[in-house]
Amino acid sequence: MPLVLVILGRQGSGKGTQAGRLAERYGVIHVSTGDMLRSAVAAGTELGRRAKAVMDSGDLVGNDIMIGIVAERLADDDIQANGVLLDGFPRTTAQADALAQILGGTGPHLAINLDVPIAEVTKRMLARSRADDTTEAIARRLELYEAETAPLLAWFEERGCLTVVDGLGTEYEVFARLAEVVDAL
Ligand code: AMP
Repeated sequence: MPLVLVILGRQGSGKGTQAGRLAERYGVIHVSTGDMLRSAVAAGTELGRRAKAVMDSGDLVGNDIMIGIVAERLADDDIQANGVLLDGFPRTTAQADALAQILGGTGPHLAINLDVPIAEVTKRMLARSRADDTTEAIARRLELYEAETAPLLAWFEERGCLTVVDGLGTEYEVFARLAEVVDAL
């Protein structure tokens, strides 16, 4: 596969917006697992029905389901031809191991940790008022992020592909920092 990028960051870090802009700039396909799940919920598919309660509570959808969805999507022609920017996946080390297996035993070319402190993301999430953004769900997601996703940083670090980018500042300032690290590849 041409280029495989991963963007990590707490919910509310601005990673979805920045991922969309990065994908456009570098011509890779933006794959957001959160968006895929929300579409499935809206469409009322079997997957959507299984994922809805878990998402509403702020918990993580099971690894087996997520790995299946992503493996299937990564096999698509558009991604095989253009490369991918994964947003929201991997979320656990089990998902990272599965990704490495899909990629033939290696990590992504680059994993970017878009770093925004907990106090700031909580403020932003309460302000955006999405249906699944109750105070409890926000707290639960942040707790899970620290517990499950933070060890991923070590996973990427060990494979030499982790870069931390400061996510504080305007959308343009943050995008410029992100573009700088991708350009350096
Ligand atoms: P997001 O839009 O990335 O914040 O995802 C919204 C919700 O979808 C999360 O709170 C999880 O319940 C679920 N989700 C998205 N991606 C994953 C993943 N890779 N593993 C498990 N659950 C996920």
